[in-house]
Amino acid sequence: MSDLPRRLLLVHAHPDDESINNGATMAKYAAEGARVTLVTCTLGEEGEVIPPRLAHLAPDRDDALGPYRVGELAEAMKALGVTDHRFLGGPGRYRDSGMMGAEQNDRPGAFWAADLDEAAAHLVAVIREVRPQVLVTYDPNGGYGHPDHIQAHRVAMRAADLAADPGFRTEATETGEPWHIAKVYWNRVPRSVAVAGFARLREDLAEPGRLPFTESAAVTDVPGVVDDEVVTTEIDGTAHAAAKAAAMRAHATQITVAEPYFVLSNDLAQPLFTTEYYELVRGRRAGGGRDGRETDLFEGIEDIEGAEGIQETAGSGAAQNGAGL
Ligand SMILES: [Zn+2]
Repeated sequence: MSDLPRRLLLVHAHPDDESINNGATMAKYAAEGARVTLVTCTLGEEGEVIPPRLAHLAPDRDDALGPYRVGELAEAMKALGVTDHRFLGGPGRYRDSGMMGAEQNDRPGAFWAADLDEAAAHLVAVIREVRPQVLVTYDPNGGYGHPDHIQAHRVAMRAADLAADPGFRTEATETGEPWHIAKVYWNRVPRSVAVAGFARLREDLAEPGRLPFTESAAVTDVPGVVDDEVVTTEIDGTAHAAAKAAAMRAHATQITVAEPYFVLSNDLAQPLFTTEYYELVRGRRAGGGRDGRETDLFEGIEDIEGAEGIQETAGSGAAQNGAGL
């Protein structure tokens, strides 16, 4: 039990990804007293700007979107009750790389062009400081192929390895003891949930005037959709739906929310999921919820530590018995 309280680390590419993917999860654990740490890898400088009055922030005009989104992220964290949010290597260390194939991909400072171990070293420092039992990030495709999301995945997975390696020391990680993260998760959405969400959305869109949106996105537009059986864990964040929606609204340059739906700058509506789903990729799967899924990211961790304690007790008990004979 010495490693409690629960500590959750999330690694994301841009401000807004945390709220869309994990807003309900973050709000839930923060409300329960867990330490929730968000590391965002870029300022999202290349995002498209939705509100016309803020269009001047765009990278091809004032190029001031990054600092503005720092403020949006801070508002979102207030809504979620999360106080520990950081940028990888400090704000502005890595720049948004734009969509795959864009010329911004290779620009100096672009996250996509970053040296993997150098970027990971910044995250190792955070891991060794915070000592999270659970890490959440994207799958190897970054959920949907955005270069910064793919890179965030690589950096998070690499940092998890390096943080546990006693031999790994750099300037950025001079302090802090090696730390092994017990469980690593990737963000997922079960296909059946996505399909059902879009079916409901299409019904609502068919009723004139019901929604402020006219067109639906597709299941393939949702990051991380997989066959249901791949999903190991579901976090019911229904009680934190309002916090998630408020956090998403705080990213007003990127998202327009009309619960239980939202649109990005492409104006295509998507379901706003308040149960969030994960695939456990490292660590021991616990879980005996519905469909055998875990219902808590930390499930089993106390048990693992408790089991070690029990073994020690049993060992000393046996020794005492032995002494008595
Ligand atoms: Zn993103």
